[in-house]
Amino acid sequence: MLDELHSRIGREQPIDALPRLLRAYADSLHPAVVGAMHISCADEAEWECADAFQRHFVMPLLPELKHAEKSPFRLSNLGARYEWGALAVAEQHFATHAAGRSFKLLVVKINSHVAAVGHGAELRFGALQRYGEYSTACGALHLLLAGNIKPYLNDLRSGYMLDGVNRLRLLDDSAKVDPRWRSLLLAVVNARAQGRRVERDIAQLTPKGPTRYLVVSAVTLNRGADADTEVLCGVSVADAEYSGASSRYTGLGDDPTLIRVETGGELLMLSRV
Ligand SMILES: [Zn+2]
Repeated sequence: MLDELHSRIGREQPIDALPRLLRAYADSLHPAVVGAMHISCADEAEWECADAFQRHFVMPLLPELKHAEKSPFRLSNLGARYEWGALAVAEQHFATHAAGRSFKLLVVKINSHVAAVGHGAELRFGALQRYGEYSTACGALHLLLAGNIKPYLNDLRSGYMLDGVNRLRLLDDSAKVDPRWRSLLLAVVNARAQGRRVERDIAQLTPKGPTRYLVVSAVTLNRGADADTEVLCGVSVADAEYSGASSRYTGLGDDPTLIRVETGGELLMLSRV
């Protein structure tokens, strides 16, 4: 099933496709318990993505929180930032009695997002119409790219500066990144950066019991009045019993100059250069 997930990397899909695939992956592993964390932007445009994850992954698989009600651990903030330490709290919650008898699967789904209008050669990113007005999405990431300074933007910026590389400067350079893809790649790099943060927390966390972590980084394409779609950017897997678990990552990198964007067909396609 991991191969199936890998085969979807970079391909635009309906908003329910990835949650359904994650469910099939979880079913194939037969874990004692399935837990989930969903990290998304607070923008109301991300409701559709959260709803699809709730319907097609959370409801079929997670333990009941209360009668007939289920929920992932949720981080919903400006720009879909992973908050250091959140994984330790979520891991404790899903380390149920049943999980102790075998192993649990903890899926961390990260959604960065971007507005997308049109298809094929007409596809444009960064702005959509809502409530009768033009609006930027992701607003937080665009404020960051424009050089604004605020505490949450400083936190987002640190994700673009991992390893001392200034990816915002690359994104802003029209000689290095085609301006048509700037908003899209801004979101793709953020998704990967937040995934790397989760991987760092996995490496230092001692779980309460054997745990398979599956971290998926994705970008939601907010398509205004049309149904939203999603692009899976990458998948990392780690098996932890004690601290120090390392993640095995497959997917797009975090260098925006090394991501090819193809819009020739009906659906958007991203790949490594
Ligand atoms: Zn946003």
